[in-house]
This record gives sequence, C-alpha cells and structure tokens, in this order.
Amino acid sequence: MDSFLRRTSLIVGLLLAPAMAKAEWFQFSGTAMTTPIQMEFWGDSETEAKRISQRVFDEFDRIDAQMSRYRERSELSAVNREAAEHPVVVSGGLFRVFEKAQEVSELSDGAFDISFGSVGYLYDFREKKQPTAEEVEQHLPKINYRDIELNKAERSVSFRKAGLLTDMGGIAKGYSVDRGIAILKSEGIRHARLSAGGDMYLLGDKRGRPWVVGVRDPRQAAKNAVVLPVSDVAISTSGDYERFFIDEEGNRVHHILSPKSGRPVEGIQSVTIIGNDTLTTDGLSTAVFVLGVEKGLAMINKLDGIDAIIIDSDRKLHYSRGLLDPQDASAPE
Ligand code: ADP
Ligand code: MG
Repeated sequence: MDSFLRRTSLIVGLLLAPAMAKAEWFQFSGTAMTTPIQMEFWGDSETEAKRISQRVFDEFDRIDAQMSRYRERSELSAVNREAAEHPVVVSGGLFRVFEKAQEVSELSDGAFDISFGSVGYLYDFREKKQPTAEEVEQHLPKINYRDIELNKAERSVSFRKAGLLTDMGGIAKGYSVDRGIAILKSEGIRHARLSAGGDMYLLGDKRGRPWVVGVRDPRQAAKNAVVLPVSDVAISTSGDYERFFIDEEGNRVHHILSPKSGRPVEGIQSVTIIGNDTLTTDGLSTAVFVLGVEKGLAMINKLDGIDAIIIDSDRKLHYSRGLLDPQDASAPE
C-alpha cells in the first residue's frame, strides 16, 4: 500500500432549504487504504461538516495503520510475524475483525479465508506478478482458517502453523465504513452515505426519498447494471475488475483467490451483498464470489436480513430470494 494518503477534500454545499437554519448537504472525498473514500451528509454548517469529515478520514487512517498487511508496523504485521510462536494480544477493533472473518469462513465452508494471504502475498497486481505453480504448491498448505486460534478472554490471536499469513483486504474496509458511520451518528448526523471503494453504508434516507445506489456493470465503469432505492442499509460489492491484470496467456488475473487452488476464482464478475452492517456485507461479498452462484445463493438464502445480486461471467443476473417477487421466490430450485 503506497505510503500516506494524498487527500483532496472537496466540498459541494447545495443549499436546499435556505429558510430552515443553514442545514445543507456536504460532500467530501479522499483516499485511504488505496481506496477512494466518499461521503455525503446533511449537516448544519460547513465548519462543523469539515471537522466531522476529518474525524471520519482520521478513523480510516487509524484502521489502516492497524490492519494493513503492507505496513511493517501495523498490528496485523506483528500478528503475522509472531502468532505462530506465541499468542499475540490485539486491540478490540482488530479482534472484532478476526472474529467476523472466522464467522464468515465457517459460514462459507472456507471459501472466505483470511489466511489466503499465505499465497496472496505472492501476487502483485501493479507489477503484474503472479506465483509459479511450484510457489503455489509450496504455500497452499498454509491456507486454513482453522489454524487461526482466537482467545476471546485474552483477546489474543495465535497460529497453529508457521508461515501462515493473514490479510484483511476482504473485510477491513467494511469495518472502517461501520466505524465511520458510528462517528457520524455520534455527531448527530442522521442522513449520510459513506463509501470506501465497493463498501458502503446508507444512513437514514435522502430526506424524504431513498438513496439510489447503482450496482455497476462489471465491464463498463460508467454504466449501472442495477439501481437500488435503499435506506439504512450496508451494501458491499466485490468484483473481478478492482485489481487485476491480463497475463501473457490472456487470462484475467484478479484479486479474489480460491483458498483451494491459490488462483483467481472464475465464474463471476461481481457480487453485491445488502445487509445491516458493512463488516458483514464486505466479508460475505468476497465469500459469495469464491463460492460461485449456486453455493453462494444457498448460503445467502439461509441468512436473515441479507440479500445478494450476482453478475456471472455470462453477464447474467442472479438474485437471492429476498429480492425476488414472492411467486418466483417460492418456485422450486
Ligand atoms: P474490494 O477490495 O474490491 O472491495 P473485496 O471486498 O471482495 O473487494 O476484497 C477483495 C480482497 O479480499 C482482495 O484484494 C484480497 O485482499 C482479499 N481476498 C482475496 N481472496 C480472498 C479469500 N478467498 N478470502 C478472504 N479474503 C480474500
Ligand atoms: Mg469483501
């Protein structure tokens, strides 16, 4: 992850109701975790809005400094270095993310697995670098979430296998969005949209009407495949277009890896999950991507309050039961 954020804060104040105090919509954008961060909220004044947005940006930086595997001094790097030798006590935030990661691993039967990093480290999407078959074979046995042991009483993490490496890239952004929303709420904000790349939370509505969120066409950045009117929900999208390169053989080498093969997963172009908190939707979007359409939908259909929209590699759309009309939903599978 390259160095510190370069941030441009952009404020667009739209004066919508001049008669009512000075409340207006404020928009800010920046970069953290090498990801675009965008927020929009209804606030009382520009000075206050700037201060509040800065608190949110600072929180993203704090979490990145804690959970980035690219930063040698992060808590996560210390875990990766030491947890095979002795239990490493971590902060409440990182422990929470470890717990959720393990929960999503159990739910998805290991399709989501933060120890994918044991092989994931050998990829460099910017440098168009991927591991050889021998390298994958050598490191693949280190991928197994069951070798990550969490001790809740001590708040510690230990690994049962030397060389196991964890990576929170599939779940930490969702956590950050939830934390950012908690800050906005604590500041009295009731209408907000906060996103970090493909992870987003919509707080309240857009004052009298729903927020409108587009699920982008995975092969045409400017086009939406689906548009959703929503409020008070978390939405995460995982796609094969975020970090990828095309290798010499014409294969699309992207960033979501199968823990079984150590290679990018085929079959799906994007997965969007809708739920109550972004930590969960982030983990699940990556999990469904790895599971594929059939197993992915079966997992989501068993979970209360969670829905999915999948775009497969033939660009066909698939919806979980909660998004289908009741007639379709009751049809046998
Ligand atoms: P995005 O980063 O585009 O928001 P995701 O939430 O799907 O998309 O996260 C993708 C990231 O998840 C990858 O960059 C990598 O860090 C991590 N990852 C890749 N494969 C797995 C996997 N099988 N289990 C858990 N995390 C994964
Ligand atoms: Mg994810």
